[in-house]
Amino acid sequence: MTRLVLVGPPGAGKGTQATALSEKLSIPHISTGDLFRAHIGDGTELGRRVKQYLDDGDLVPDEITNQLVEERLAEPDTDGGFLLDGFPRNVGQADVLSKVLAESDKKLDAVVQLQVDEDVVVQRLLARGRADDNEDVIRNRQRVYRAETAPLLDYYRDILVTVDGVGDVEEITNRVLSALRDRT
Ligand code: AMP
Repeated sequence: MTRLVLVGPPGAGKGTQATALSEKLSIPHISTGDLFRAHIGDGTELGRRVKQYLDDGDLVPDEITNQLVEERLAEPDTDGGFLLDGFPRNVGQADVLSKVLAESDKKLDAVVQLQVDEDVVVQRLLARGRADDNEDVIRNRQRVYRAETAPLLDYYRDILVTVDGVGDVEEITNRVLSALRDRT
C-alpha cells in the first residue's frame, strides 16, 4: 500500500495529512502546490510561468504540471512508493500518471479521499492566511475542485478509500492508516 494519492477539496487538510502519512509510511510526500511555491520563491523561470495561476486559484496548464511530476517520479527515492498530494487534479493528469507508472510496470495502490464539507473548508482556508487564501480565490479554487477534480472520485472508484476529514490531525491520520490496512 505504498503508491498513494490524496484528494479532497482545498482546505481539507491534505498537506497536513500528507506530511504525517509520509512519515508513518516512510514514503516521500510530493505536493505539486509546494513544488510550484518553491519555484516561485526561488524566482525560477518555471516559477514565473506559474505564478499567476496560483494567485488566481486556477490550475496550472497540464503540460507544465505533468512534466514536473514526471521528473519528480523519476527520482530514485520514489522507487519504494510515494504519496502524491494535489496531483492529479483532473482526468487528463490522471491518465498521464497511469501511463507514466505503467511504463515501469507500476500502478497506484489507493486513492485516499479526505471528505470535508465545503463550509468547513472555506472557514479553515480563511483562517490559514496563505497568499492565495483571499475569499474570491478560495471560491474559485472550490469551483475548480468541483468541476475538474471531483470527477476523479469516480475515475478512481475501484481503489478509492474515503475517510472523514473532520477531527483532530492525529485521529484523521489513524483513520487513513486503518482504512488502508482494511483494504489489504
Ligand atoms: P495546493 O497547494 O495543492 O492547494 O495548490 C496550490 C495551487 O497550485 C493550485 O491552486 C493550482 O494553482 C496549483 N496546482 C497545484 N497542483 C496542481 C495540479 N496538479 N494541476 C494544476 N495546478 C496545480
